[in-house]
Amino acid sequence: TQNFPLPETPRVITVANQKGGVGKTTTTVNLAAALARQGAHVLVIDLDPQGNASTALGVEHRAETPSVYDVIVGEATIDEVVQKSPEFERLFCVPATIHLAGAEIELVSLVAREQRLRTAVELYLAESDDPVHYVFIDCPPSLGLLTINAFVAAREVLIPIQCEYYALEGLSQLLNSIQLIERHLNPDLRVSTILLTMYDARTNLANQVVADVREHFPQQVLDTLIPRSVRISEAPSYGQTVISYDQNSPGSLSYLEAAAEIATRGAVA
Ligand code: ADP
Ligand code: MG
Repeated sequence: TQNFPLPETPRVITVANQKGGVGKTTTTVNLAAALARQGAHVLVIDLDPQGNASTALGVEHRAETPSVYDVIVGEATIDEVVQKSPEFERLFCVPATIHLAGAEIELVSLVAREQRLRTAVELYLAESDDPVHYVFIDCPPSLGLLTINAFVAAREVLIPIQCEYYALEGLSQLLNSIQLIERHLNPDLRVSTILLTMYDARTNLANQVVADVREHFPQQVLDTLIPRSVRISEAPSYGQTVISYDQNSPGSLSYLEAAAEIATRGAVA
């Protein structure tokens, strides 16, 4: 196996794009699994009420399961709700349950409503006995208060972009939101990484999207492309990431390669 360098301080990475179905969750869980497989200590925070990241990581997230909702409303710490992945020794998940659907509205009337996740993450990182290397936050497909909490909690934003016709649509709105957060709530926030997903080399369109995105964001785009792959989309129904479900498949190898790039590049200034 390759050896990835481990960061000296924890890298907190928010995976965001207000479009649904672009590969946020798939990217979150597979990068997290890839890094954990290479020996990093990784925490995934599922911040989407759908709980897809929790499902893919094989952790429990029934309505009564203690979850990120309890953390956001201040009734639990991350340490009290976190679960270990059944498959990777150093991979952990804060699950999301259906209760999170109400949090967007409940947050409005809470004090420090934009800072709640950040406070919880800082406490967890400060108190963890075993140093944490990566925290990935999987966002819902919106730019509401949950996603704002994720932007305030992180240093880095990773944007997955699907290689299809409407790929760049909505991107300027996303970048504007990130800039607003940087100005008013989190001066350290940077778009560190863009990952092109669901790439199909046979279509001219996909190649056009790749060329456009590379031209606009030469620093941020990873060299690795994630191919469209049935194995990637099948894995979650077995409560698995593709890294364990079919570790030598092209999808798995591409996520391992993307993870290696992220680890090797380090946190971009
Ligand atoms: P998001 O979290 O942005 O809504 P998902 O990660 O859930 O997006 O992906 C949307 C759908 O596309 C899911 O059914 C997922 O399994 C599938 N998918 C994601 N990446 C790939 C890929 N590289 N190849 C094939 N299917 C994929
Ligand atoms: Mg998702």
